[in-house]
Amino acid sequence: MPDLHHLKQNSFFTQWLILGFALLILGGAAGFNLYVDRGRTESRERGRLLTQARVIQENLEQNLTAVSRVLADLRKEVLQRKVTPGLPDRLKMLTDAMPGIRTLLILDGDGTVLASSRPDLLGGNFAYRDYFKTPRQNPDPEMLFVSPPFKTTLGIYGINVARTIPGPRGEFAGIIVATLDPEYFNILMTSVLYAPDMWAAIAHGDGIQFLMVPEREGQAGKNLAQPGSFFTRHRDSGKETDVLTGIAYATGEERMMAVRSIQTAKLRQDKPLIVAVGRDLSAVYAAWRKDCQIQGGLFGLIALGFTLGLYAYQRRQREFARKEAEVAEARAAEERFMKALTDNIPGMVAYWNRDLRCGFANKAYLEWFGKTPEQMQGIRMQDLMGDELFHKNEPFISAALRGERQHFERTLTKADGSIGYTWAHYIPDLDADGVRGFFALVSDITDVKRAQIALAESEWTLKTIIETEPECVKVLAADGTLLQMNRAGLDLIEAESDSQVIGHKLTEIVSPPYRDAFVDLSERVNRGESGMLEFEIVGLKGGHRWLDTHAVPMRDATGQITGLLGVTRDITARKKAEQALEQLAQTDFLTNLANRRHFLILAEQELSRTLRYGGALSVLMMDIDHFKKVNDTYGHKTGDVVLQRFGELSRQTLREIDVIGRIGGEEFAVVLPQTDGEHALEVAERLRRSIGDAEVVLDQGLPLHFTVSIGVATLTGADINIDTLLSQADQALYKAKKAGRNKVCAYEHRDGASMKWHGA
Ligand code: GH3
Ligand code: MG
Ligand code: MG
Repeated sequence: MPDLHHLKQNSFFTQWLILGFALLILGGAAGFNLYVDRGRTESRERGRLLTQARVIQENLEQNLTAVSRVLADLRKEVLQRKVTPGLPDRLKMLTDAMPGIRTLLILDGDGTVLASSRPDLLGGNFAYRDYFKTPRQNPDPEMLFVSPPFKTTLGIYGINVARTIPGPRGEFAGIIVATLDPEYFNILMTSVLYAPDMWAAIAHGDGIQFLMVPEREGQAGKNLAQPGSFFTRHRDSGKETDVLTGIAYATGEERMMAVRSIQTAKLRQDKPLIVAVGRDLSAVYAAWRKDCQIQGGLFGLIALGFTLGLYAYQRRQREFARKEAEVAEARAAEERFMKALTDNIPGMVAYWNRDLRCGFANKAYLEWFGKTPEQMQGIRMQDLMGDELFHKNEPFISAALRGERQHFERTLTKADGSIGYTWAHYIPDLDADGVRGFFALVSDITDVKRAQIALAESEWTLKTIIETEPECVKVLAADGTLLQMNRAGLDLIEAESDSQVIGHKLTEIVSPPYRDAFVDLSERVNRGESGMLEFEIVGLKGGHRWLDTHAVPMRDATGQITGLLGVTRDITARKKAEQALEQLAQTDFLTNLANRRHFLILAEQELSRTLRYGGALSVLMMDIDHFKKVNDTYGHKTGDVVLQRFGELSRQTLREIDVIGRIGGEEFAVVLPQTDGEHALEVAERLRRSIGDAEVVLDQGLPLHFTVSIGVATLTGADINIDTLLSQADQALYKAKKAGRNKVCAYEHRDGASMKWHGA
């Protein structure tokens, strides 16, 4: 840009230089022309003035020659016949005849007038006059004496021309004088004036001015022999004729003057006459000056016009250049901007024209196809893409060229052989004339696509896991709406398909006991806790079951709780195993009666219930008689059978609510709720008898009989515990054994309640 500017500056300077040069030439030509014109004007004027001066000279010379001849003739006559009486008349006649002579005089050697064309002068003496004195001093008979101008007796200036008259011995005897007529000079000189500013003058060789036409006051008699005057310059030059310019001494005007000496050799004048004809210098050059002004003005106008024109032109050029630079800069900035934009957007951008030739491609596009910008410019789409890809894209290309926007996904094999995915947009470039081409915007979505596929796969895996999971898996929205439930879940809640339940609130689907517990659980989960719920359920397929639910909150990417993930397991088997274990821990394996520990717990419960709600309660303590003998006689195994048989008989004889326990080897205890002492004795007696009546059939076929002793104790006050009560029953049992066995004996309190005896 600075270079261009510099170049422009340079060319501007050159233009000025050329204009200056042209103006110089034009001005020079005009100046030269004017100069030549001035020279011509001057030389023409000089020529003219010289001519006019010569006219005067020739006339004057002719006149002087005539005057000289007249004087010579008159002298001859005077010398031959002396002065005759007729002479004055002849003089008069001669003056009248000759236009140049005003007066003719003949003076004697003393200066007295002997004869005159004017009678009034006769007898006058002019010895004092120069025109007399000069010839007398130098009486050369051949010389024509020309006097300096003098003031005549008539008061006007005149010049006298004289010749001497020699005496008999050649001495000075007088002069013959002709007074030149100023009127004659006047006419002659006026006749040569061709311009109003002209004047002509005549002076004597000594410098006294004789006359000037047109007449001016004070000019006659002026002495021109002054330093620097035209007269002096002419005299000093020694030339006969000359044209001089400068200030005229006589008038103080600036003039061009043709100056000429009149001194004819054959006349032998003693002094010349000097004739000057001149013009006002400014008048000489008036026309030329006007030309100068016109041409100067014209030149000025031309120069001004061209200067202004060039200035305006350059200004416009500069303005153009500035605008151009601005436009170029704006365009460059726009291009930079577009390039930065298109090269840095995470996608490929290209422009395809109607002929499917590339008009533009950004960096990413070039890199994808491995081309340089030069290779890409104008490339055919089919050549770039290859036939296969081109044909695949053809429908989208045609649609884009019809003006329809296209969006499509394309799977491509990349240069390195890997599979790439792209998402392409074809955007038609429309203007008033239709579709000019289209923009192709293509994003490489390989990573996204791969992630999408991976996600879909993992989703599928997860779904498969969930679906095949034997436990119930469910996903709920934060408001409790069921979003997802696997097969096991549907089976659990006995739904045919998920369409029956998905989108419903879970609380509307499940039964009340679970519903309430679940509401609690989901509230906790919504607060961000995880929780567990265990519950028993009755009435479903598969009968009585135990289930547990583990629930955890589900969160989105920001950590916000979006719902609940719950897994419900069927724990019936575990529950049953636990219950069986408990049963085992509480039951005597041989008789299936409560073992000692469990009996004591149950007995304690019955006692505290009775103490709380009131009523009677009795206990029995039982011991099989001489059991050691059974073992010893029939073996331990038979002893076990007897013990089992005893258990069965007890259960058969007693009520459901009575609690029976095996508390020792062959010792048993019973709690009889709501049973007073009397009834307790009856029950004990009934039991003793049924045992005594029973028989166990041995392997050998023989029946075996056995008996039992029973002690009875009954609750009498509130301050009693189960141990005391059992101890009292034991005391009564001891009494029954002592009394001979196969007996029932009641505990007797010290307050006098007696022990009653029953049985054999
Ligand atoms: P008494 O009439 O005084 O009660 O005489 P007894 O033989 O029953 O007396 P004792 O209490 O001395 O004997 C109890 C016997 O019961 C001792 C023991 O071997 C036997 N016995 C204890 N537990 C079992 C058992 O589980 N099975 C068998 N077969 N015998 C047992
Ligand atoms: Mg015993
Ligand atoms: Mg016993």
